[in-house]
Amino acid sequence: QRAKNDKHTFQVYDPVFDQNAIERLFLTNNLRTAIEENQLTLFYQPKLSLKTMEISHVEALVRWQHPEKGLIPPDSFISIAEKTGQMDALTRWVTQTAVDQYLKWLANGIKINIAINISAENILDKSYPDYVIALKNKHQLDDCAITLEVTEDAVVDDPTKATEVLNYLNKSGFKLSIDDYGTGYSSLAQLKQLPVQELKIDRSFVQYLLENENDKIIVRSTIKLAHSMGLTVVAEGIEDEETLLWLKSQNCELAQGYFISKPLPAHEFEAWLSQSKYQKQSIANAKTVN
Ligand code: C2E
Ligand code: MG
Ligand code: MG
Ligand code: MG
Repeated sequence: QRAKNDKHTFQVYDPVFDQNAIERLFLTNNLRTAIEENQLTLFYQPKLSLKTMEISHVEALVRWQHPEKGLIPPDSFISIAEKTGQMDALTRWVTQTAVDQYLKWLANGIKINIAINISAENILDKSYPDYVIALKNKHQLDDCAITLEVTEDAVVDDPTKATEVLNYLNKSGFKLSIDDYGTGYSSLAQLKQLPVQELKIDRSFVQYLLENENDKIIVRSTIKLAHSMGLTVVAEGIEDEETLLWLKSQNCELAQGYFISKPLPAHEFEAWLSQSKYQKQSIANAKTVN
């Protein structure tokens, strides 16, 4: 892997950089093993419907349960996986695991749609799309049972190719969502060229919106514009009830954040859901039958 600025042939020794380099090398060498030996694990964070005040979706978020280093967050290894060509293997693992979990919940009467994060590499050729479509067919999953969350940067490198692949996924029954909206440089008009159905407003605009008039204006107008384009809106990073109620008053459809629940391991998520005031009536009924 060549450094981006390697045209500078003389470089000052930087111990901090070196420490990071060692850490990255360590993670790079071990990530392959992690995927093969099932050291990865998924946490689940609910999306609350602000229309029905029920949990309708859950997002799968990967962590690395390292035997010595403990739980490593995705921000420490996703970019490494991207740079070292391991995103296809990683996303396949995440998808397979999330679909298994979806089917387990379904068998227990818990119908909850699942969202999976995918990277640029996953939509630049058809290898991953073909994989996830085959999986959907094999298990005869409902249309929209799976949402695929993509960030804007996944699209800007090769918009033509990305649009083609996203169209292919959408026609095959996947719901597509733009993650972290507002942090990239694309306009909503550009994004609307894509076959997406959902927009997730980045948490940096949501977290402090009640104290920050600019954030409020941005979020309010983004919701309006998204709606006028036929998109569903999710707000991420909701940490208090006042923010949740404000978003509800703005007709934002879905809410996600620590105020509702942090991402949890599957069994903890089940325990949380079973006592949650946001539990679906259909789920509560399924439980009494069992
Ligand atoms: P994301 O998809 O935007 O996920 C939201 C992140 O915000 C999660 O961090 C979540 O724990 C955190 N979060 C949720 N609610 C709140 C809140 O109220 N306050 C605060 N401060 N944070 C909140 P996490 O799990 O560490 O994931 C970070 C990022 O890593 C994700 O951002 C996503 O881009 C990436 N990622 C996670 N899992 C996967 C995966 O399986 N595949 C790919 N390609 N990327 C993944
Ligand atoms: Mg996401
Ligand atoms: Mg996000
Ligand atoms: Mg993010």
